[in-house]
Amino acid sequence: MATTEKSKASLSAPQKALRKLGLERDIDLALHLPLRYEDETRLSLLSTASEGECVQFLAEVKSLDIIFKPRRQLVVQVHEFIMDAELTESTAKGLIWGDLCTLRFFNFYPTLQKTLAVGQRVRLRGEVKGAMLGKTIMHPTVHSAQTPLPKTLTPVYSTTAGLPQAYIRRAVLTGLDRCIRLGSFSETIPSFFSKPDLWPLAKAVQFLHEPTADVSILDLQDKTHPAWQRLKAEELLAQQLSQLRAKRERLELKAPKLGAELSKSSLHSAQFTGARVATNSYEGESLGREDQVGVGHDKGIAKAKGNAKNKNKDKDKEVTQASEPPISTTDQLLQVLPFKLTKAQQRVVQEISSDIKKDVPMYRLLQGDVGSGKTIVAALAATQCIDSGYQCVLMAPTEILAEQHFKKLLGWLSPLLEQRQLCVAWLSGSQKKKDRQAMLEVTSSGQAALVVGTHAVIQEQVKFKSLGLVLIDEQHRFGVAQRLALKDKLPDQEPHLLMMSATPIPRTLAMSYYADLDVSTIDELPPGRTPVVTKVVSDRRREEVIARIQVQLHLGRQVYWVCPLIQESEAIDLTNATQTHELLSQSLPGEVIGLLHSKMPVIEKKEVMQAFTEGKMGVLVSTTVIEVGVDVPNASLMVIEHAERFGLSQLHQLRGRVGRGAAASACVLMYSSGERGKLSETARERLKAMADTQDGFEIARRDLDIRGPGEFLGARQSGTAMLRFADLTTDQEWLEWARSLAPLLLERHPLLAEKHISRWLGNKQEYLKA
Ligand code: ADP
Ligand code: MG
Repeated sequence: MATTEKSKASLSAPQKALRKLGLERDIDLALHLPLRYEDETRLSLLSTASEGECVQFLAEVKSLDIIFKPRRQLVVQVHEFIMDAELTESTAKGLIWGDLCTLRFFNFYPTLQKTLAVGQRVRLRGEVKGAMLGKTIMHPTVHSAQTPLPKTLTPVYSTTAGLPQAYIRRAVLTGLDRCIRLGSFSETIPSFFSKPDLWPLAKAVQFLHEPTADVSILDLQDKTHPAWQRLKAEELLAQQLSQLRAKRERLELKAPKLGAELSKSSLHSAQFTGARVATNSYEGESLGREDQVGVGHDKGIAKAKGNAKNKNKDKDKEVTQASEPPISTTDQLLQVLPFKLTKAQQRVVQEISSDIKKDVPMYRLLQGDVGSGKTIVAALAATQCIDSGYQCVLMAPTEILAEQHFKKLLGWLSPLLEQRQLCVAWLSGSQKKKDRQAMLEVTSSGQAALVVGTHAVIQEQVKFKSLGLVLIDEQHRFGVAQRLALKDKLPDQEPHLLMMSATPIPRTLAMSYYADLDVSTIDELPPGRTPVVTKVVSDRRREEVIARIQVQLHLGRQVYWVCPLIQESEAIDLTNATQTHELLSQSLPGEVIGLLHSKMPVIEKKEVMQAFTEGKMGVLVSTTVIEVGVDVPNASLMVIEHAERFGLSQLHQLRGRVGRGAAASACVLMYSSGERGKLSETARERLKAMADTQDGFEIARRDLDIRGPGEFLGARQSGTAMLRFADLTTDQEWLEWARSLAPLLLERHPLLAEKHISRWLGNKQEYLKA
C-alpha cells in the first residue's frame, strides 16, 4: 500500500493524467487511437490564405517583443518565404518573399524565444486571423525550418488537462512499439476465418497511429478505412467471444430443476376458470392455520388478501370437492385468473418453463411493451418454482412498483400459498425494524415461498433457505453489481434468472450487448385495449388541457399529470410539481388532486398512491416516480409537462400508464418552447415520433437512432466504453461476422480466443458476466 502511494506521488503531472485516462499498460496506450488527424506533410501559402484557414509555411523572424498590454504576451513578426523549387535549399538567393504575419503567444517559455530569435528561419502552422488587416496567428506550432516535414499524418488524441499532445503522442508510440515487438498484436483470427479486406491487426493499429499522407483524411475520420474496419471487427469479436464464454461458464453451473410438466390443457384452454376440478388435500389444514401466515402484513397487504379471497371464494369451493390428486399452484393460479393469457404470453411461459426445468441456470430477458402483461408471466414462473419446493425472489427498482407487484402477487398467490402453509414476504428499505425482522425470518426459514421487494432483497442479512428463481423487473434500472449480488445468494447452486424490461431492445443491440442472454418477447397486447391518442401541444394551451381534464373527471375517469425530474436542481423539480398541483387545485375546485414526488416520506407516497389506485383521487400530479409499472386501469388521460425534456423510451413508459382499461385514453405531450420560443430539432423529432407510433419496438429503434447505444442503455448498463470503435448502426455486417465466428473460434482455437478477449477487455470481463 505504502509503496503504491509513494510511486503515485512520484508520478509527473502528465503521467498522472495518462493514468486518469486509463492509459497504464502498453496495450492501453497502443489502443488509444487518434480522434482525428492533421495534415502537416505539406506546406501551403500564407499569401493566398483566407481568414480561418489553417496554413503551414516557412518564415524568417523579423522582430520579437514581450509586451504587457492588454496582457503579457510574446509578439513576433515574421516574413513568409517560399523556396524556389529550381534551387537548392542552401542557396539563400533562391528565396521568394511572401506575406508578413504577426504571431502572438500568451503562454511561452524561454526555449520558444530562442527558436524565434530574430533572423531564425522557422516552419509555422496555425489558423490565420485578420486576413484583411495584417495576418495574425495565435499560438502557432513552431519548428525550425530545417526539421524535415513529417511523412505521415499527425494524429490528434483525446486528452485531458496537463497532458499535451506531444507527450501523449510519444507515450502512445512507445507503447505501440513495445506491443509490436512483443507480439501483442499477433493474429488471433485464423486466416481461414478472415475476410479478404481484413488488414492484419498490427498493420492496422500502426497505420492508424501514423497514416501515410496519401490516404483520405475523410476515410479515416468516418472510420471507413480498412484499418478502422479491422479494429471494429476486432472489438466486436472480443465482445461476442467474452459473452459466449460467460454463457458457457454459466452452462457449467448447476441450478435446481423447477416445475413439473406444465399442464398444457390449462395453459391453452379458452376458459381456465372451473375447467379443472381437483381435490386439494391442503385445504383442510390451511383453514386451521390461518393465523400462522401473513406475518407482519400491513393494512394494504391485508386488503389485497381480502380482495383475492372474495374473488376466489367460489372456485375454492369447487376445488375442495373432487377427488383427483392435488393440483399445482401453477394450475390453480391459471384457474383463478380473471383473464385468458394471450398467445404471446402462453409462448413465453412455455419458453421459461422449458428453461427452468433444466439443471443449468436460466438467463433470460423477458421483454414486452408496456402493459403487455409481463407480471402474470413472472408469477407463473414463480409458482413453478414454488411447486418444486424452492423460493423465488422478485426485485423491483422502486418501492411503489415493488409494492404494487407485492399486492398483485399476494392477491393471486396468497390464498394458494396459505393452503400450503407458505406465505409471501415483503422487504423494503423503509419498513419497520420489527416487520423487517419477521420477514427475514420467514425468508430464511423457507416459509416465504416468494419474497418481493426493492434492492433491500440483496442485502447481506437476507438469507434464503432455497432460492430457485430470481425475477428482476425493469432490469435496466439496476446496475450490474446488484444483479451479481442476487446471484450470489446461494453458495453452491445458481438460481435461475428472469429479467423483465418494457424497453424493448432493438435487434442489433440485443445481438451485441445481450449476446449471451436468451430473449423472450411478448409481442401482443391483451385484447380490448384502445389505442392512446397522443397530442403534442404548447404549454401556452394549458387552459385547454385543464378543460380536458375536467371532462375526464366528469366521466368518472382519472388523470395523471407528470412533471419532469430535473436532476441538477431538485428544488426546481419540486416547485414545478407543487405549482402545478396548486394551479390544478384552484382550477378544479371540489376535485381531489394529489401530489407525489421523490422527496416525500415513503409512507405519504404510499397513501397518495393508494388513494389514486382506489379511485379516491381524480388527478395525480407527480414527478417521474410513477414512471414504471404503475397500473390503474381507470386512468384515461396522461399530461406530460415539459415533454421535450424526456427521453423517448421514458415518454413511452409514461404513456403506457393510460389506456390500460377499455376507456378511450389520451396522452398530452405539453412542451415549453422556452425563451427563444422554439423547440429544438431533436426535441421536435422525438415528440413527433411519439405522436406517430405506439409500438414500443419502433420507439426504441428511433430512440436508439437519436441517442446512440450508450445513452440508450444507460451508462451503467453498457459498461463504460464497451464499444469504442464499432458503431452498431453502421457496423452490422461486422457484428454478424463476429457473431458467426465467435463460437467457432471458441470451439476450435480456445487459446486464440482467450488471447483475443484479454487483449481487448482486460479487467472489464467481470462486468460482462453479470
Ligand atoms: P407490464 O407488461 O407493463 O408489466 P402488467 O403485467 O402490469 O404489464 O399488465 C398490465 C395489465 O394487463 C394488468 O392489469 C394485467 O392484470 C392485465 N393483463 C395481463 N395479461 C392479460 C391478459 N392476457 N388479458 C387481459 N388482461 C391482462
Ligand atoms: Mg410491469
